[in-house]
Amino acid sequence: MAEKTRCPICGAEASEDPPTGDSRRIHCPRCGRYVISRTAEATLLGAPLSPVEVSSIAGWLHGQPEPTVVDVARLGELRRRPTPTAQEKARALFQEIARGTTHGQWIELNVNDQRLWGAASAGSAEEIIFLLKNYLVGRLKWLEDLDTWALGGFARFIITPEGWDVLEETRRT
Ligand SMILES: [Zn+2]
Repeated sequence: MAEKTRCPICGAEASEDPPTGDSRRIHCPRCGRYVISRTAEATLLGAPLSPVEVSSIAGWLHGQPEPTVVDVARLGELRRRPTPTAQEKARALFQEIARGTTHGQWIELNVNDQRLWGAASAGSAEEIIFLLKNYLVGRLKWLEDLDTWALGGFARFIITPEGWDVLEETRRT
């Protein structure tokens, strides 16, 4: 049975499989599934991640085949990794949103959804709103905002024909 815990990378509410010796297997909505060694966890306690590092590392983990192993060496590499650009974040968010949707489907999103934060390497609801409205709707025109913004950060979008062209071209190659 999975036990409740806090994700040692991002702090989100997560679950873990029964512990096995010197590592823990975490299921985090933001980071996905990964295995973290006890020594890597101890390193994190001694030198906590900055909010920018958390967003970047959670985003990297989210995009990896599961379960990725995070040991001390991997943690060091991840800390030195450059932060994704706004364009890269917007594209990754778009791919996540588009998964499992069909042409013309209304997609309801919650800007507080940790899965979206992870996919986009984002660290706040404001950042998700920026990527949705300013990038994916405004700049790239891959999404249309159906203007149904509600309390709690819920809103509906559809993927535009331009968005489908991009998705279907990348799926074909
Ligand atoms: Zn996490």
